[in-house]
Amino acid sequence: MSTAPKNGTEQAIKAAATEAGFELCGIAPATNSPELEYFPAWIAEGRAGEMKYLEARDEQGQLKRSSLARVAPWARSVIVCAINYNTDEPYSTQVKDPDRGWISRYAWSREDYHEAVLRRLKQVEATLHESDAETHQDLITRSYVDTGPIVERIFAKYAGIGWIGKNTCIINQKKGSWLFLGVILTSLELYADLPAPDRCGSCTRCIEACPTDAILGPYQLDSNRCIAYLTIEKRGSIPEDLREGIGRHVFGCDICQDVCPWNRKAPTSSAPEFAPRAGLVNPALDWLAEMSAEVFRQEFRGSPIRRAKHTGLQRNAAIAMGNSGNRKFLPALEKLGAHPDSAVSESARWSIEKLRKVGR
Ligand code: SF4
Ligand code: SF4
Repeated sequence: MSTAPKNGTEQAIKAAATEAGFELCGIAPATNSPELEYFPAWIAEGRAGEMKYLEARDEQGQLKRSSLARVAPWARSVIVCAINYNTDEPYSTQVKDPDRGWISRYAWSREDYHEAVLRRLKQVEATLHESDAETHQDLITRSYVDTGPIVERIFAKYAGIGWIGKNTCIINQKKGSWLFLGVILTSLELYADLPAPDRCGSCTRCIEACPTDAILGPYQLDSNRCIAYLTIEKRGSIPEDLREGIGRHVFGCDICQDVCPWNRKAPTSSAPEFAPRAGLVNPALDWLAEMSAEVFRQEFRGSPIRRAKHTGLQRNAAIAMGNSGNRKFLPALEKLGAHPDSAVSESARWSIEKLRKVGR
């Protein structure tokens, strides 16, 4: 195991993170925290829906994400880096065009954020190895963006990046919550930063604004009801009682962040990779519904939108059309009603029924 770090290692890490393009960097101890104790219960209650990757277990059957000490016993510190992905485009709550859908802000980017963040993390990791090559020859590091055995936002809190808001997002007092996180686990025993204090106060805007009541109470999210989960991770049909609340969201949902006062003056990103691709801000619903599998592949190459799959996006567009209240979508929905994928065809028929009841 590595010995104690030389003076200034923490500063060198933070300087390397800034050099790599991260706006925030902090260090947390690789210890379990009270928040992690809720994780097994959250999984046991089925709140993760079909996101089986969150339920990955070790050989003893324990949840990997519930204890870093178990899956990475060599880790002593967690370096958490954050980069802002906000652009100066409007928020979903400011856009009212019923003919268009909504794709979550993080998914507009030209490059998949996993790659954009990991590339920067590797730069920080390399600097760490170079600067400590002589004193820490047995240094171990591992970099992760969403894929590690770790609940990133909990370590982000303890690294002082921000607090975990009642909407369960990490929020920084100056940058808001439009942040991608990356973590480096290291065997180095580093001085940890102080956790960021919770600044939600008496505010409950996110809880009130959530259209599907997915925020059961402060800091408690039921993924099964969350539009982000329903439109991206959920396979097959979306439960009927939640479809109306989905509104015109076709991939993800930003509402609980759009209404957060800490995002009112959120700065925009300077990273070119996060500039929006053409057509993705408030996209035309008929464009998405009629897109062929081949165009989907080309259009969304290297985009997180691929995660929803072609038929998932068509299913979502069909539901959004029904929720638009605009009968001009009936011909497109009739076509989707004959789709070979049963979730798409059934969603289209649901929307046809809905639109036939409106006069527009
Ligand atoms: S992302 Fe949307 S659906 Fe999910 S909790 Fe936030 S407001 Fe609710
Ligand atoms: S909307 Fe209010 S309660 Fe929700 S995360 Fe933001 S500050 Fe916290």
